[in-house]
Amino acid sequence: MPLQRLNWALATQRSVEIWVRRDDLIDTHLSGNKFYKLYYNLRAAKAAGYKQLLSFGGAYSNHIYALAAAAKAYGFQAVGVIRGERPKYLSPTLQDAEAWGMKLHFVSRTDYRERSSPELRQKLTDIYGDFFEIPEGGANAYGVQGTKALGVAIHRQVKSDYTSVCLASGTANTLAGVAAGLQRAGDLAQKVIGFSVLKDAGDRGFQSLGAQVINYQKAINESTSNWCLINGFHGGGYGKKLPTNMRQFMTGFECETELQLDPVYTAKMCWGVAQLLAKDYWQSGSRLVLIHTGGLQGRRGFDL
Ligand SMILES: *Cc1c(COP(=O)(O)O)cnc(C)c1O
Repeated sequence: MPLQRLNWALATQRSVEIWVRRDDLIDTHLSGNKFYKLYYNLRAAKAAGYKQLLSFGGAYSNHIYALAAAAKAYGFQAVGVIRGERPKYLSPTLQDAEAWGMKLHFVSRTDYRERSSPELRQKLTDIYGDFFEIPEGGANAYGVQGTKALGVAIHRQVKSDYTSVCLASGTANTLAGVAAGLQRAGDLAQKVIGFSVLKDAGDRGFQSLGAQVINYQKAINESTSNWCLINGFHGGGYGKKLPTNMRQFMTGFECETELQLDPVYTAKMCWGVAQLLAKDYWQSGSRLVLIHTGGLQGRRGFDL
């Protein structure tokens, strides 16, 4: 995917060069980091002879959206287990998913928390038949294998000629994969910075996001230390309406740079980068690569 120079006065003033890796441009629907996270999942499902995929998510989930698009494109049936009761009007995300053939199965928030229970699995099998299960967000070993390929691809574009790679982290599966890919390809000194979009790791039911990165890397027999997680730029927590200052920042950034963001992930990364630039976190002459992980469909859930 193209790497574009960002025209952003805040960075120019500090003589920091910013490049954006446009993974939001992969496809209209099957796009961003969810493309990489699904790739090996779909291959594994196909190799094992599955005809149906099943996964989990909320009403505006980028993962559910990408999964529905991928299932349609590659000839799978798909079931989306959605958090919360079926609303009177489906979100635009779920309307699209349903239109592409995904069956939507709504569960209460309490049941959703127990989504990996054998009971729910049995119930879903009774209703829908056999399926290949992908965890929420596509965050498993196949997901980290796919995002590792993204790390390798970025290395091919920039070699070691950068200071930091920045990305937005939810489960931190992408952070784990990209860091592994970059290091495998030969970048030892530079760091990947994951800007957490969660208020605390408990937002997604993890003990600690850092421990998650280590687990994800272990799952593909990798262990690298070229990454860090930065907290404090979550704007109130996962999927929450952005506070006014962040919303104004997002609008201003989009207007100035002509790059669209989404309020759940990429806006928080850019906000974090802006705060760090203002504090001279990076020396002048630094070169950053920001990964645009997509998610623009999620803008429809917000009054922007
Ligand atoms: C899912 C998502 C992320 C977070 O990816 P993780 O692997 O869960 O950390 C980041 N950006 C966008 C746009 C996403 O949809």
